[in-house]
Amino acid sequence: MTNEVIFSKEQLDEIISDVADKLNARFENQTSIPVFISVLKGAEPFFNDLIKKCHFEMKIDFIQVSSYSGTSSTGVIHLKKDITEDIKGKDIYIVEDIIDTGLTLNYLKQYIQLHYQPRSITIVCLVDKKPLRKVDLTADIVGVTLAQNKFLVGYGFDYNEIGRNYDYIFVPTKKQLETWDKLLNSDK
Ligand code: 5GP
Repeated sequence: MTNEVIFSKEQLDEIISDVADKLNARFENQTSIPVFISVLKGAEPFFNDLIKKCHFEMKIDFIQVSSYSGTSSTGVIHLKKDITEDIKGKDIYIVEDIIDTGLTLNYLKQYIQLHYQPRSITIVCLVDKKPLRKVDLTADIVGVTLAQNKFLVGYGFDYNEIGRNYDYIFVPTKKQLETWDKLLNSDK
């Protein structure tokens, strides 16, 4: 059985252009330099494609958290890598791949606010997955909304760290997951 493609490369390109248009409009008469923060590792392909379509000045930084194991969220968030830019009093854009339970972004927002006191925090996310939301969290700019609870792989989304390199988003088949499990076991 073949993969169920959720968003093709072409669809992703259109979605990201729409997000970039919204950002470009916000910064048409730019008076300050925002800091765009990529949430590693999942947001990387989205972040890289998005910033190339943004035609204003920005600084970039990276933060890394983890909450997923296999195909589900553990709900326990760990900060693995912190930002290095001085963002106090700055306008911050957190760029995330997906909102699922909302716990990760909720944690990140609170962490950044508490530790760095930026002037504002805007959340930009590629996919807003609604069914499993546990906290009241909404992104300010959303690429697409997914009404079904599907486990996505590709374009940054991983299965135990593999699958991030595909240029489209899909739901892996059972057979594919079994093959990956075998490969991952032999890689230990
Ligand atoms: P949340 O904390 O909102 O439940 O989840 C956010 C994180 O969980 C995302 O940054 C992403 O790493 C991971 N995640 C959520 N849904 C999926 C999914 O469908 N596939 C994969 N591979 N990761 C997901």
